[in-house]
Amino acid sequence: MKGIFVVGAGPAGMFAARQIALAGYDVFLFNRDIKPGGLAEYGIYPLKEKMKGGLRKQFAQVLALPNIHYFGNVLVGNSYEVTLEELEAMRPAAIVFACGAQGARKLGLPGAEAKGVYAAKDFVYNYNLLPPYTAMDFSTGRHIAIVGMGNVAIDIARWLLEDAPDRKTESVTIIARRGPLEIKFDQKEIEHVEQNIDRDALAAELERVKEPCARCNQDVSPQKIYEEHFRKLKDPGFVFAPPQLSFRFLSSPAAILPDANGRIARLEVAENDLVLKADGSTSAVQTDRRVTLDIDTLIFAIGDAHDPKIGLPMGPDGYATEPDPANPREPHYEVWNAETRAIMPGRYVTGWARKASTGLVGIARHDGEVCASKAIEFLKSAPDSATLSQSEILNRLEAMGLRPVTKADLALLARVEQSEAQARHLESFKYSDNDAMLEAIAQERERSSQTEAVQLASTS
Ligand SMILES: Cc1cc2nc3c(=O)[nH]c(=O)nc-3n(C[C@H](O)[C@H](O)[C@H](O)COP(=O)(O)OP(=O)(O)OC[C@H]3O[C@@H](n4cnc5c(N)ncnc54)[C@H](O)[C@@H]3O)c2cc1C
Repeated sequence: MKGIFVVGAGPAGMFAARQIALAGYDVFLFNRDIKPGGLAEYGIYPLKEKMKGGLRKQFAQVLALPNIHYFGNVLVGNSYEVTLEELEAMRPAAIVFACGAQGARKLGLPGAEAKGVYAAKDFVYNYNLLPPYTAMDFSTGRHIAIVGMGNVAIDIARWLLEDAPDRKTESVTIIARRGPLEIKFDQKEIEHVEQNIDRDALAAELERVKEPCARCNQDVSPQKIYEEHFRKLKDPGFVFAPPQLSFRFLSSPAAILPDANGRIARLEVAENDLVLKADGSTSAVQTDRRVTLDIDTLIFAIGDAHDPKIGLPMGPDGYATEPDPANPREPHYEVWNAETRAIMPGRYVTGWARKASTGLVGIARHDGEVCASKAIEFLKSAPDSATLSQSEILNRLEAMGLRPVTKADLALLARVEQSEAQARHLESFKYSDNDAMLEAIAQERERSSQTEAVQLASTS
């Protein structure tokens, strides 16, 4: 059999798996989390229930394909549970790595180890109830700074200003290296928190950065910036509602200053200049001007990095893929071994594993499908690798002391979570602990086999 392994069951992995399965191959999905979905389940904002529900349905349809096999709760990687060598020993004909970008980009600031300093993805994993992040301390205080001005930063600001159940938030400050014209968030995301912006304070901030921006031919007048990014602020009747969301443009965090308990108490920020480059683009250059902000929580939303512990060759934006000199910004999908200067045939990366923090679910889906078509082309002429069967792989994983979660287990878990939701009068219920999920699966399996035994006895 020519079985294909897909590592990671986020959008890129799920849609790659679907396409390969529809081409007639057996696909074996290995996923770190018990449940599939990746950031679609554990990153997308908790209240975007319609979008999350729609994606869950699509993922369930993918898993319903008879030639897709699922092993959740299995961490692949040379520093993890199943090394790449052990994976190869199960004789896949091809492997698609769709394991996302699980690390965080770091600035290497003094004091970065202080309590109350978090990476955005870990923070959203916590409030989206992904084990083990749910059990970790992501406590927030009253004055929070978020570094970065993309959609992830705004999602987190929304959570802290509006929805976190135990919030103490009095202010959230978005700190951005560049100016207001480089805002990356979308109108539909900022709309949720525009009422938290004090229009006078934002106007004063735009005035503060007016001069360096003007030197780069950037008009950052309130009229222009409101028109492009803050539509509600154009309304003469706009009313500010605390807690406050404010912005500090042309600023980079320089040092984290902890209190006696080791928690961040202040953030030293360097002011930046904006410089016009020969090609017409701009760059932010740090000056020696510093300001200190009273901050008790700091969250970095400056992008993700690929995880070196998996053991794939590392590239600049994702795992190393075959370079394309004609198009260096668009690497290929085949894993590239820089030492031998050759591709690893039949080994691919896709989604955020290929290009970290790039795009929404639709982009990850497309990337997974393009990667799948390349794998299918390769498989047509690849020799039969005699891949282990579903039960052989399961036995092997169990022999390694793992507790892989199968498609049948996921169905049992879904049933338990549904009845928990009903019992608690909630729209949906989600376990936030792996042991609780495994226990629920075991109990439900026991209950179903008892019910089956009773039914069998009554019909015989
Ligand atoms: C905070 C946040 C909010 C977002 N909101 C939106 C939104 O509103 N709308 C939208 O369209 N997009 C949104 N996105 C983007 C979207 O989530 C991504 O485009 C998409 O999830 C990337 O898919 P992926 O499959 O490449 O990676 P991921 O979704 O990260 O999936 C990776 C999968 O690999 C598994 N994995 C990781 N390491 C291993 C390992 N070592 N072994 C085995 N399995 C492993 C993980 O368990 C996971 O299932 C958001 C992203 C973030 C961070």
